[in-house]
Amino acid sequence: MEKKIIATTSLAGCFGCHMSFLDIDERILDLIELVEFNKSPIDDIKNFTKQVDIGLIEGGCCNSENIELLKLFRENCNILVSFGECAIMGGLPALRNGIPIEECLQEAYIDGPTVGENKQKILPNNEELPMLLDKVYPCHEIVKIDYFLPGCPPRAELIWNALVALVTGKEMELPYEVVKFD
Ligand code: SF4
Repeated sequence: MEKKIIATTSLAGCFGCHMSFLDIDERILDLIELVEFNKSPIDDIKNFTKQVDIGLIEGGCCNSENIELLKLFRENCNILVSFGECAIMGGLPALRNGIPIEECLQEAYIDGPTVGENKQKILPNNEELPMLLDKVYPCHEIVKIDYFLPGCPPRAELIWNALVALVTGKEMELPYEVVKFD
């Protein structure tokens, strides 16, 4: 069977979903018999070098760079999967969505208890920096998403089952213990 191509990225996420992916442990050896990784932090390939079968997106969109990268993945991936709550609904970063952006910046860079020296009360403002969005957007509000893998992070079993199903075209096995979150 021809190997499927996989790409992954983290937008406004904590890399916990990628860590959970790696929790498939020794099955990664089985996986690399079935797939080849392209652009991904897993193999550190920075740019797409070919059209990809399956793209996994961790994290939602909190800045302009996240939007550009998500659109690039949509263009280059036949199937796009939101994996993890941050990609699906914004997750923890979206806690800022009810707070005006000016207040968020004030707290983060000027008033917050963990702010170090900033006597001149400077807010980051450089054209090199990605533009912060008015709120954190789930991926499906920016581009079409084909599948959603819930969890924070999704369990390794769920990621494994979903990938095997997508790669082999077989129906996905979803035992109860893989999708219960209590
Ligand atoms: Fe991290 Fe959870 Fe968000 Fe995944 S869903 S990026 S583990 S906070």
